[in-house]
Amino acid sequence: MSDCIFCKIANKEINSDFVYEDDEIIAFKDINPQAPIHILVIPKKHIESIIDLTDEDEMLVGKMYTAVRKIAKKLNIEESGFRLIVNCGKDAGQEVPHLHFHILAGKKLGTKII
Ligand code: AMP
Ligand code: ZN
Repeated sequence: MSDCIFCKIANKEINSDFVYEDDEIIAFKDINPQAPIHILVIPKKHIESIIDLTDEDEMLVGKMYTAVRKIAKKLNIEESGFRLIVNCGKDAGQEVPHLHFHILAGKKLGTKII
């Protein structure tokens, strides 16, 4: 989608600090980190949110989790741990309408998520 900021990042039209890339997925550092490590994992294909996934996207979603595992290894947080957050829609405060996983790590995270 031409006016989507994450599509622009995926297409390298906007500079970003990339930490992972394969054919279908790309991951980069969040511009406004909420933890010492804050990575966004996105499909290159424009999908607005979890609600907009189709049955055909099942493999893609599996690959997003595989990407998370590889990123955790690469950033050395597979032992210390991390939190995965996916906001969906307005009550969750989803700001960017392109599906993304937040990986938060690098410190002892709080227990509250609401
Ligand atoms: P959400 O509220 O789940 O939609 O999260 C959107 C996230 O995207 C926020 O954490 C923003 O800081 C982040 N963000 C927005 N624009 C950019 C950008 N150009 N590069 C990296 N992260 C961004
Ligand atoms: Zn997009």
